[in-house]
Amino acid sequence: MMDINQVRPTRAIVNLDYLSHNFREIRKDIPKETRICGVIKANGYGHGAVKVAETLIGEGIDYIGVATLSEALEIRKKFNEIPILVMGYTPNEQLKSAVERQITITIFSLEQGKILSEEGLKLSKIPKVHIKIDTGFHRLGMRPNQESIEVIKNINELKYIEIEGIFSHLALKNEKEDYKQFNLFKKIIEELEKENIHIPIKHICDSIAAAVYKEFCMDMIRPGASLYGYISRNTPMELKPVMTLETRISSLIDINEGEGVSYDYIFVAERKTLVATLPMGYSDGIPRSLSNNGYFYIKGQRSKIIGKICMDQCMVDVTDIDNVEVGDIATLYGYQGNENISLTDVANLADTNRNEILSLVSRRVPRIYVKDGIIDDVLDYLLE
Ligand SMILES: *Cc1c(COP(=O)(O)O)cnc(C)c1O
Repeated sequence: MMDINQVRPTRAIVNLDYLSHNFREIRKDIPKETRICGVIKANGYGHGAVKVAETLIGEGIDYIGVATLSEALEIRKKFNEIPILVMGYTPNEQLKSAVERQITITIFSLEQGKILSEEGLKLSKIPKVHIKIDTGFHRLGMRPNQESIEVIKNINELKYIEIEGIFSHLALKNEKEDYKQFNLFKKIIEELEKENIHIPIKHICDSIAAAVYKEFCMDMIRPGASLYGYISRNTPMELKPVMTLETRISSLIDINEGEGVSYDYIFVAERKTLVATLPMGYSDGIPRSLSNNGYFYIKGQRSKIIGKICMDQCMVDVTDIDNVEVGDIATLYGYQGNENISLTDVANLADTNRNEILSLVSRRVPRIYVKDGIIDDVLDYLLE
């Protein structure tokens, strides 16, 4: 393990105990027979996909879900056995490597079925696919109609291919729309079964749908956000935020009334102000829209971000915080001691959602992994 003092003070502390805890809460909350596909796209929502996968595999997760083939291959390098589903689009040119490395691919055309089957024949492997149905999200998938049933029949007749799953994704507009989508999905499955096509893994739920609609859980759910501790619906699950994003004060500067801070002086001091500089900027994962608009927590107190956030640094007003010193911890979200600083507030102020903020945490931010209550690993992508 890397020496923690050798990585920068701007850090994402990732609590793997909480990740395990959240997984168990989700497990308890859904039907016993429903599998879980843990979604770890976008570097595990910023937490570090490999470590997240390792923890979830340790908890007995059934499947790993990612958005791109490259994300799947990153996981496959470390974990040989775990089934991995690319939920997004894979270009024809990349299908061969998917077959070689036994990655399950999402398809919605006969053309891709044929390519996979040909590659399967060449490599003596049976590629696994999940068929995507567009029940109303209008992003990817075949429409739920007779033509699609014919396409799926044709794919099913290809020799070197296994249709292991079929899935859709909800727009979560409201209950009426969600049921409409779910019923369209169920209907196409029924039609396929009439044709004697029985697909073993049928799935439609993300975190929210799995929490809200138990009757939609089917053979598998695909939670992302809830694994990392967040869900924006009422639920009996007690989820814990996995990530804390923090840094340490690098400099303190006294300025007088009337003096400005950072580019363009969008902040001008209305009093004598103590300015703390933090070595965290928008390229680390703090949204630039928090300029003059967000807060860090220092010594348990809110300190306002003043002036424009720079690429690598930002400034906060610490005039009202007693005994503040260079090296003090400044937390953007997550835990400071026992206090939980709300990521939801940060997302609201930045006018975005929590998943975006988490996935913004960039490569140059070291991840500090906590397990069994102690530091278990230190990962710096740049020093690896
Ligand atoms: C990202 C994604 C998920 C996970 O969504 P959450 O809202 O984070 O639970 C599930 N399914 C698909 C197809 C996705 O793209």
